[in-house]
Amino acid sequence: MTNALVIGGGFAGCIAAQMLTEKGIATTLVERDRHLGGGCRTFYYGGHPYTLGPRHFLTKREDVWDFLDRHCPMQRYEGHEFLTYVERDRQFYHFPIHRDEVDLMPDREQVTAELEACCGPDGAQNLEEYWVRSVGPTLYDKFVDSYSRKMWDIDSNTEITDFGFTPKGVALKTGPVKAAWSEAISGFPHAFNGYDDYFPRATADADVHLGTAITAYDIANYRVEIDGGWRRYDIIVSTISPEHILNNAHGPLRWMGRDFLKVVLPVEEVFPQDVYFLYYANQEPFTRIVEYKKFYKYEAPTTLLGIEVPSTRNKLYPFPMRRDQEQAQRYIDDLPERVFSIGRNGSYRYLDVGMTIEQCMTLFADL
Ligand SMILES: Cc1cc2nc3c(=O)[nH]c(=O)nc-3n(C[C@H](O)[C@H](O)[C@H](O)COP(=O)(O)OP(=O)(O)OC[C@H]3O[C@@H](n4cnc5c(N)ncnc54)[C@H](O)[C@@H]3O)c2cc1C
Repeated sequence: MTNALVIGGGFAGCIAAQMLTEKGIATTLVERDRHLGGGCRTFYYGGHPYTLGPRHFLTKREDVWDFLDRHCPMQRYEGHEFLTYVERDRQFYHFPIHRDEVDLMPDREQVTAELEACCGPDGAQNLEEYWVRSVGPTLYDKFVDSYSRKMWDIDSNTEITDFGFTPKGVALKTGPVKAAWSEAISGFPHAFNGYDDYFPRATADADVHLGTAITAYDIANYRVEIDGGWRRYDIIVSTISPEHILNNAHGPLRWMGRDFLKVVLPVEEVFPQDVYFLYYANQEPFTRIVEYKKFYKYEAPTTLLGIEVPSTRNKLYPFPMRRDQEQAQRYIDDLPERVFSIGRNGSYRYLDVGMTIEQCMTLFADL
């Protein structure tokens, strides 16, 4: 019988285990932590459920939504909004930057003139050029410059050369002001414990080893060392940073992380009704604040805010520089047949849960 090893029990590892066992493949999953779920696991503080980062679900594909909803009942959110605080204007504005809100800005004439002079992002060589060409220097300065530099701990956004995306899809939005992603389906699990019930369900037919570390890798020969013994597998699916499984052959990959601070406040709700998180694009050390009860629909007389501060203590964000992406690609290119490196860390790509499900659907359809 074909056997498979899955390394890591986050979303990607659990979906992989589910899809492999559904194909009748004997699957072992090894997770370093004492629980499954990785970054999407729900924790509790003062009774409040939260995750390390918002982890709300987004997809443009109905089949991806249906896959998750079937295994982890989901509730759809209509029109929740993102706001960015722009200190120099003393105002919150919607993000993506909205054309209509330019008229509310104290420097609207200058911003409008710059927008009219914009030539579009074609030919941009880095993130700064991309944004200045898309929205002009003033809006870039208000919304992107400081935010992005603190996010990556860099002096200049000209260093960001893998810049072909904005996290929200468009640089300047028109149409309805409120809905951040009018073209995508957005939601969160119904359950009080978020996605947590999905993880044991997905791995029910796999041999799961929690709190277990792989101590050595011999990927060329499909072997790993677990608990002092070498084991061989026909298929290996890794969801961890690829340099680990290839013994650092091309040097360590760079990652940014987050410190997550928790604050409980003695009021029922802090943010406006449809606002779930706030971005801070100025000199403050944090990038984002999340009001978790909004996602979980948790009712309590207090509210929990999660404050995200960029840090290098954990591996959460792959660097969007061409040289980092090329280094990661060298690892992926080295993988032998039937060894796959998937998920956010395994792909060294800014994947969300929806994209992780899409990636697994494509990979395992052909396996
Ligand atoms: C701050 C933040 C906020 C986010 N918010 C959203 C959001 O709102 N919506 C969304 O869709 N996506 C969001 N994402 C992305 C989403 O969390 C990921 O797409 C998803 O978690 C990917 O799952 P994964 O299994 O690839 O990675 P992870 O969840 O990181 O899981 C990897 C697993 O591997 C384990 N592991 C690591 N090393 C080893 C080892 N050596 N041996 C064994 N196991 C190991 C880890 O313990 C972990 O359980 C966010 C990400 C971050 C960082």
